[in-house]
Amino acid sequence: MPTLADKKPNRPAQRAQGRPAAELIFGDLWEYDPAPETADPKIKSRYDLFIGGKFVPPASGKYFDTINPANETKLAEMALAGADDVAAAYRAAQKAQDGAWGKMPGKERAKYLYRIARLLQDRAREFAVAETMDNGKPIKETRDFDVPMAAAHFFYHAGWADKLAYIAPGRRVAPLGIVGQVIPWNFPLLMMAWKLAPALAMGNCAVIKPATNTPLSALKLAEIIQDAGLPPGVVNILSGPGSTGGLIMAHPQAAKIAFTGSTEVGKVIMRSVAGTGKRMTMELGGKAANIVFDDAPLDQAVEGIVNGIFFNQGQVCCAGSRLLVHEPVADAVVAKLRHRLKVLRVGDPLDKNTDVGAIVSRDQLETVRGYIDAGVQEGAKLWQPPCRLPAKGFFLPPTLFTGVTQSHRIAREEIFGPVLAIITFRTVEEAIEKANNTEYGLSAGVWTDKGSRILKMSTELKAGVVWANTFNKFDPASPFGGYKESGFGREGGRQGLLDYCKLV
Ligand code: NAP
Ligand code: MG
Repeated sequence: MPTLADKKPNRPAQRAQGRPAAELIFGDLWEYDPAPETADPKIKSRYDLFIGGKFVPPASGKYFDTINPANETKLAEMALAGADDVAAAYRAAQKAQDGAWGKMPGKERAKYLYRIARLLQDRAREFAVAETMDNGKPIKETRDFDVPMAAAHFFYHAGWADKLAYIAPGRRVAPLGIVGQVIPWNFPLLMMAWKLAPALAMGNCAVIKPATNTPLSALKLAEIIQDAGLPPGVVNILSGPGSTGGLIMAHPQAAKIAFTGSTEVGKVIMRSVAGTGKRMTMELGGKAANIVFDDAPLDQAVEGIVNGIFFNQGQVCCAGSRLLVHEPVADAVVAKLRHRLKVLRVGDPLDKNTDVGAIVSRDQLETVRGYIDAGVQEGAKLWQPPCRLPAKGFFLPPTLFTGVTQSHRIAREEIFGPVLAIITFRTVEEAIEKANNTEYGLSAGVWTDKGSRILKMSTELKAGVVWANTFNKFDPASPFGGYKESGFGREGGRQGLLDYCKLV
């Protein structure tokens, strides 16, 4: 039977010593030798705007830096789009909408989406490395999640483009026209795919802005869009600040606007377009409850809790940031969590073994630290595993709070960082009441052995997505979106497509 040593030909010294497999695993932990990424992310020194199928300098001539939050070094200069560029992008989009794209049959549009998906797969490694450098998330996430999921969204929507008659039987489906889109920094490439793929499948054109912190993968995607031969003006990509986002959303030629970001900015945008008749999709903040009952498989639940709040450093709208745990198993779950957190690796996001990477920016780091201070001041009990953080870059250890009450800010507000607030409950009713006691309603998780309880919880929890015995699982076919202050409209699945068309 092959031993573990046989499977590790790159460790000849250990193999030669002929130590048993278990000892080798232990040895791997202690003789930890980081394996940094070597693939070339092909980052140019400067990126222009993508308007009308071409890379063009911004009208103002201004650029801003995007940095690597793991070491605070500059990665590239990005064009800063202003009012003139937004106007140019809408003109280009209108030309495409009135021209070839607007008249193209769905089966032809599909070919472009398939091409974009395949080109993204071809350059997957390069995109994963670039995204990790721009955002700070671990390479194992960009490699196994962000980039393949982005490709999957283009594939899925390509499949719909020639089957639109089936999304609303008996009705004729028509594109809306030009859509204005603004996205956040937590899943930069994936959010591009979430926004662009359904818009294009339905025959719309787009003007889209990535976040200031993470514009790199959006402009790299522009290279792919150009290589795919998408007609000029169908997709226009403008890097720039929030004010540019405001101009994109308020532009009179936008038939629909789609925004993913904070509830606060979402409300500003809604006010700015009130009464204009624009269609809207709002994907906003969250404060999800991850609920563990005493009959749950606890080891599995602990993995789900860790994935729920430490995936992408907790910078996830649907993060399971409130753990509601059944009193009889609360001590056991907290003990298991502490044990698990002690072996999470915090550090260089390009290291393939890293579990927790960098926080996206110094501002976000300060915001999260502020919440940790607030938790302590309000009387909750802080626990962090011992871990050495890199000297440069924006890092935080995974953080737990026990003794949290419903009134604590860490239980009510979206922290958007690796901080878990742990609250206990005694009955099913109390769990539902506590889970729903939030202004948000994006997601929730339920861990239990009882199918009937899963059904009851998923009916009574006011959340757009309810995961059962898992957490943070996504699929392009599955609609995603919120209730209450988490927004409205859905992205993904048939429902997501309905938000990008009119039925006539
Ligand atoms: P944010 O501050 O609201 O920014 C989101 C985007 O809006 C960025 O591109 C931002 O540009 C832009 N923006 C800022 N002010 C604007 C304005 N007045 N008008 C138009 N656009 C404006 O959010 P974030 O900090 O990037 O992202 C974190 C938030 O996004 C969290 O609340 C999270 O829950 C939410 N989110 C929700 C979902 C979901 O599906 N529900 C998914 C992911 C994230 P700048 O980058 O230049 O500021
Ligand atoms: Mg950056």
